[in-house]
Amino acid sequence: MAVSHSLLAFQQRFPDEAHCAQFLLERRWPDGFVCPGCGGKRGHLLRSRAYTYECVACGKQTSVTAGTVMHRTKLPLTVWFWAAHLMATHSNGMSAQQLMGQLGLGSYKTAWLLAQKLRRSMVDPEREPLKGVVEIDQSEMPFRADETFFEITKSGKMLVIGAVEIVDHTTKKPQEPKRFGAKYLDTMSGRVRLAAIPSNEATHIHAFIKANIAPGTTLVSDGHASYLGLADYRHDPRVVGSMAGHVPLKWIHRVFALLKRWSLGTDLRRQHIDSYLNEFVFRYNRRFYRHVSFETVLGLATRHGPVAYWDIIERKNPRKASPTIRRQPRHRKTASGFRQDGARTSNAADPSSGDEPGTTE
Ligand SMILES: [Zn+2]
Repeated sequence: MAVSHSLLAFQQRFPDEAHCAQFLLERRWPDGFVCPGCGGKRGHLLRSRAYTYECVACGKQTSVTAGTVMHRTKLPLTVWFWAAHLMATHSNGMSAQQLMGQLGLGSYKTAWLLAQKLRRSMVDPEREPLKGVVEIDQSEMPFRADETFFEITKSGKMLVIGAVEIVDHTTKKPQEPKRFGAKYLDTMSGRVRLAAIPSNEATHIHAFIKANIAPGTTLVSDGHASYLGLADYRHDPRVVGSMAGHVPLKWIHRVFALLKRWSLGTDLRRQHIDSYLNEFVFRYNRRFYRHVSFETVLGLATRHGPVAYWDIIERKNPRKASPTIRRQPRHRKTASGFRQDGARTSNAADPSSGDEPGTTE
C-alpha cells in the first residue's frame, strides 16, 4: 500500500520517540514541569524510565503519557502519533488492516487494538440535542461476528436507529416546522445521531429520541407505530405506501447508505458497534472541516483515561484474578538511587501527602 505524502510529512515532523515526547511535554506543561502531586516546579528526567519526570520535592514520578491513550503502552510513541494522524486525516477513517499496511505493523491484533483505542477518543464533545425538524428511521447493519478474535467468519445484522437534522441549504440553520406532510425544499442534512438498539420496540426508540432530540422537535418518520406516544414531540409521519422509502426520508437514508458503505471497509464487530457509530457520527458532524486533529484522536484534547486491552475486548483479565503477593518490596530506580515501595524520600516536603512517593501516574 502506498504511503501518502501527508504521512511522510508527518513522519518527518515526528521522526522519533524524542520528538513525540517533547511534543507531549510541551502540550502537558507549556510553562515547564509542574508536579501533579505537590505543585513543585523542579523535576528530573529519569534515565531509567522513558520520558518520566521525578519531582524533586515529593518524589512523585509522572510520565508525559500519563492520562493519554498511550500510557503504559509497549508500542513506540511514533506508531501512536502516525496512526492517529492517519485516522484523523483519512476522510473515512482507517481500518485496522489499512493501519497495519501503512505503518508496517507486525500483527493484525496490534493494529486492531491501536485503531480501537484511538477510536475511543472520537466521541462528539458537543452533545447538544438535535432540534428543529429531524428525520428519524431505522436500518439493519451487517456486522462481522467475532467469537474468535481474529478470524472473520460469521456475519449478522443489527438494528441501528438514526436521526438527522434537516437544515436550510444556504443558511445551514434548522428548519422551521411546516404543516404535516409539507415538503421541505432546498434542504441538506445537519447533525446526525446513531445508536444500536436491540429491537424496534417503543421503549428503545423512545429512549433514543429522549436522549438525542430536544423536546418540541418535529419528527419526520415512516409512521412506524413505535414512534407514537411521545407527548413532547411533534410527530409528522410520512406514509411510505408504494413510494420508495428514500423519497420522503431522503437525508437519513443517505446517512444509512454512507454508514453501510463505510462499514464494508472496516471490520465492524457487534460488541464494538457503539465506538464505530461514534466515529462515524464524529466524522459526519465535522464533514465540512478538512480533517480532525491528530491530537483529538490521541485523546490529548479531552484527556481520556488510559484504556486497558481487557476493557476494550470486554473480557475479564485472567491474570487479574488474584492480587500479586510480593515477598519483598519492589526496588525502584529513581533519580537519586534505588528506593523500596512505600519508602519515603528523605527530602519529601510534605510527609502527609496522600500520594505514595515513587508511584507513576
Ligand atoms: Zn511533587
